[in-house]
Formats: sequence, structure tokens, C-alpha cells
Amino acid sequence: MVKIREIHKQLINREISAVELAKEYLARLEISSSKFGTYLSITGEKAIEDAQVIDEKIASGEEIGLLAGIPMGIKDNISTKGIVTTCGSKILENYKPVFNATVVDKLYNAGGIILGKCNMDEFAMGSSSENSAYKLVRNPWDLDRVPGGSSGGSAASVAAEEVVFSLGSDTGGSVRQPAGFCGVVGMKPTYGRVSRYGLIAYASSLDQIGPMAKNVEDCAIVHDVISGYDKMDSTSANMPSTKTLDIIGKDIKGLRIGVPKEYFGGDEKVLNTLKKALAKFEELGAIVEETTLPHTEYALPAYYIIASAEASSNLARFDGVRYGVRDWDQKDVTDMMSATRDKFFGKEVKKRIMIGTYALSAGYYDAYYLKALKVRTLLKRDFDEAFKRYDVLITPIAPTLPFKIGENIKDSITMYLGDICTVTINLVGIPGIAIPCGFVDGLPVGMQILGKPFSEELLFNVAHKFEQSNDFHLRKPEVK
Ligand code: GLN
Repeated sequence: MVKIREIHKQLINREISAVELAKEYLARLEISSSKFGTYLSITGEKAIEDAQVIDEKIASGEEIGLLAGIPMGIKDNISTKGIVTTCGSKILENYKPVFNATVVDKLYNAGGIILGKCNMDEFAMGSSSENSAYKLVRNPWDLDRVPGGSSGGSAASVAAEEVVFSLGSDTGGSVRQPAGFCGVVGMKPTYGRVSRYGLIAYASSLDQIGPMAKNVEDCAIVHDVISGYDKMDSTSANMPSTKTLDIIGKDIKGLRIGVPKEYFGGDEKVLNTLKKALAKFEELGAIVEETTLPHTEYALPAYYIIASAEASSNLARFDGVRYGVRDWDQKDVTDMMSATRDKFFGKEVKKRIMIGTYALSAGYYDAYYLKALKVRTLLKRDFDEAFKRYDVLITPIAPTLPFKIGENIKDSITMYLGDICTVTINLVGIPGIAIPCGFVDGLPVGMQILGKPFSEELLFNVAHKFEQSNDFHLRKPEVK
């Protein structure tokens, strides 16, 4: 595994050029992504052009940042100017945004090289990346298993070392769960910490963009670049970007870790792996205690009501007029709109729009949507209480190991239940980092470390300390 810092050194010492690096990664990505289904588009030509600019800078003696020349993948719901951005949906098959998402601009300004747009569940709805309208994504650790979702392409691509890092988005776990299933690091930032401008909305009060990488430091480097206030996003927190590299490496002696018991109901092998990780934290000097988040059992239904309600509203803009494709065979505009939506939205998306519309309709609003909002407040209180006593909380990311392709796709309830450990974090808006904490039967197991709002730097440091105590992040899937 090559780290961003090491590549950076090679670039400035001219041991390798940015163009050579881009070509090397592109050659591997083209072969590898056809096996894993990780990309919806590959932007090779532009990548080489962008890399040339970096080489010119190096040649002229200009100082370059850590991300300059570093190959990356961007989830296909993040707008890239002039590059098709499909959201994994047929309805946006031909959609080329006329602007960049703020995170993309920030990465370009830092010199990052986009190699392509990562495959995903349609409109980020899913937990397995089987809902992409184009092709499914496979887990590099076992081709018969899912990589998690909805940012499955972004996670699998990092795991297979097709890129050095990627961006995903997390509405109810879509950065953390695929990171866990693919054995990579992923950060879901505090709501408002990273600009959502240019992220195609699924559920606006829950969505956050987050970075994924093979190790904690690389993930932190990317987070430091993409975070910070953005006037283009009205929910952006008026705070500077994180400066994680200043604190990474600090001691965690005396760190108070709470372990909420409600999260420990899954597969025994997963739980045992977590317990070993917690014992490791004790060895590192942390104080580990069991705690409780009493309203946890209501989180999943509240999440699926709120997320679907917001989705039903957000996805109204895809009507065959403003974006993407149109069904031309209709006689009037109303028929055209409904035929377009019926034909080009996938099954899961239509299901969520219907559930959301139902939950928001007169007569049902109070019973479902309003009740879900009340649950959200109770959950927030649970966490406020817990954070009075603990610096961080640690839980599994998913109750199971990466499951087999096809195993859950016909059974929505089982699929949704797999999100039980992740959705609450979005409902309460706090940050959470996913890191590998062991392997079972050759498959990665991840854990999530959760903190108070805006504690990303602390989470990176805690995750980094743990990472340095093992070799999980150094293992590679045997790509056959
Ligand atoms: N699996 C969850 C859902 O389907 C979360 C998805 C996400 O975070 N984008 O809604």
C-alpha cells in the first residue's frame, strides 16, 4: 500500500511524474473495474491533461500540496462539470452538470486527479450496490459478495487500489457500511462540516459527503481539504476546515469510550471481533465502559420515514423537463412526466417516493412523519447524555459480514435491518469514522467510532492510534 505522503515525496523528488502515475493507475483501473463494476465512467483523457498541469508546476519549482497528482474516484451523485453524473440512474443517463460540487472544486484546486465516477445504488438508495441501474458492484475480498452500499463503487475501488482515495456520500451509512464491508477507512462528517453544494440530494437533512481511503492518515488528508464553510450551502457550518494532521499521533490514555449495548445484537463472529478491538483500546490506555442509548430501537423506522419523505420531495425535480432523459412518445405534458418517471426510475426509488409521499400526505403526516421527527429528538438526547460521560462511542457498523449478492435484494426488511447501526448517526448529525477492526473467514469487519458534533479530528486520532496497533489496513484482497 502506498500512502499519499509517499507518493507526494516521489513526485517532488521526480522519481515518478504525475502523468506516469495517472497512466499506471488508469491501466490497472480499466482492467480491475470491469471485474468489480466499480465505475460508471472513466475519465482517462482528462486525467492525463490534469496530471500534465501538475508536472508543469513541479518542473517550474512551484510548491504542490499533498493531494497534487493523487488519483481519486468520485461517487456518481457528486456533480462534476462536463462529466456525466448519473446518480446510478437511467433518468440521468445523459446528464452533464454545468458546475462542480464544492468538494470537487476543492479537490481540483488541491491538484487531485479524477480517474472516473464511481458506481452506486440508484440515488444512493440501498445497502448493497445492487440497485445501480447499470451494473452491480462486487466486493474485492469475495466476488460473490456485495461491497455494501450505496457508495459500493467508491469503497471497492479503494480496496482494489484502483485509486488512492474516493468520495462517497452517507445518508444512513453509505460511507461507513461499504468502508466496513471492503476493509477501508471512511469518514461520515458532522452534518454541515462538508459542503453539500453539488451533491444530488437524496435526503437533505441527512446527506453528507465523506472521504474513503486505505488508511486513517490518507482519509484525514482528504477530509482536511474538503471540509469547511461554504456560502453555497445554507446548512454549511461556519467553521474552518479540519486540521487533523496537527493532532494525529497524540496519546489516547484516559480516553473514555462508551459501548452502547443496543448495538451488539448481530452475528457473533462480528461481535467477537469488536470485543477484541475494545480490549486493544484498553491496552492502549483507554477506559472502556458499557453504556446505553435507550431509544435505539425506534431509529430504523424513523430513518426510513424521514429519508423517504425527503426523497419524495427532492426527486420531484426529475420530471423529463429540467434534467436528464424524457419519454417522447406521450401526447401531453402530464403523461410525459409520469411516463418518464415510471420508465426511468428503478424499483427501489419508486418504492421510496411512494412511501415518502404517503407519509407526508394529509391525514398521515402526524401519524408518521411528525412522529419520526419526535423520535429524532429523543435519539439526539440519548447521544447528548452519552457524550456527557464519554469522549467517543464505539459500535459495529453492520450486524453481519458482507452478504452474498442476491441474498437480501428481494427482502427489503432484511436489507433495511442491516442499516441498524448506521442510520441513527445521520438522524442526530454527529460524525462517525469506519475503520477495519479485524477479519473473519477472510472477510473484513469494520467498527465505527462516533463523537460529538465537530469532533472529526479527535475521531481521526483515535482511529489512527488503533490502526497503528495492527496490520488490518495493510492487508490486500487477492485480486484474481
Ligand atoms: N442504506 C440506507 C438507505 O438505503 C442508507 C443509504 C445512504 O446512506 N445513502 O437509505
